[in-house]
Amino acid sequence: MISESVSVDRQARLLDGRPIAAALRDETADRLDRFRAETGMVPGLAIVLATADPASQVYSDRLVKTGRKLGFDCRVEAVEPATPATVHARIERLNRDDSVDGILVQMPLPAPMSVTDIATVISPQKDVDGISSVNVGRVAMGFPAFPPATPLGGFELLRRYGIPIAGQYCVVVGRSNVVGRPFASLMLGANATVTICHRRTPDLARFTRQADIVALAAGQPGLLTGDMIKPGAIVVDFGTTPTDDGLKGDADFESVARVASWLTPVPGGTGPMTNVVVLRQTLEAAFLRRGLQEE
Ligand code: ADP
Repeated sequence: MISESVSVDRQARLLDGRPIAAALRDETADRLDRFRAETGMVPGLAIVLATADPASQVYSDRLVKTGRKLGFDCRVEAVEPATPATVHARIERLNRDDSVDGILVQMPLPAPMSVTDIATVISPQKDVDGISSVNVGRVAMGFPAFPPATPLGGFELLRRYGIPIAGQYCVVVGRSNVVGRPFASLMLGANATVTICHRRTPDLARFTRQADIVALAAGQPGLLTGDMIKPGAIVVDFGTTPTDDGLKGDADFESVARVASWLTPVPGGTGPMTNVVVLRQTLEAAFLRRGLQEE
């Protein structure tokens, strides 16, 4: 097998999200100081929590803590009971609230609600998590936008590690509106050639084996194994599935690390980028809403 023959001398380097996220936090804190000096105001982020899911609670608390440390005014807006009407009403109130620059609606929403229920409600100017149809559409058209935070974090990771994108062949596994599809748009915007695979793609390996860059957003632990990529490929894993063994990405880490040249660890790869991207976009929204340029 090809993967066996290269396994002897190749070990993937890690696309470690932690130092890059730390650098982004520092940059954001500096820019926030400038915003405060220019406006005398503090940028505000409201997190809408419409679920009792403990993982969502933990995620919200972590975002609030990070945001406050950097100088943001962060608050959690719990919606109880959560129905389409109450969630809509809360988002509309926050759309009008002048102290709020960014709105993040915590996913997953309680069934039967889904992201499509709020994609047209949230103001695109405050949509710092990039879930609104306007922002997803603008990203697809290559216009300035707030891209969805998770795929933008992965994209930033590639850029900050100096991974070439233009002219590269990128295969994205997963076509969700919050990860796979917008990541494909970002890569296309950076002049990669892009294929999107999904649940109905027969013979996934036929595509992934050709790719210079494989992006995984399927939520299927172990979906990509080392024999499914070409030697030296770059693998960006957005998968974060909780298992008895901890969080698992979509890549089978051991076998992929023997063949890839760069690989995101899970946890610690694309994950740490998401919060700081949300905060950076909140600051950008605050500048834009006041007609100021960030730099
Ligand atoms: P996320 O929010 O992380 O993007 P979703 O559950 O919304 O995850 O979407 C999962 C995506 O992954 C879907 O587009 C689905 O078609 C794709 N997918 C799931 N399983 C496979 C698979 N075995 N092979 C290829 N694509 C898959």
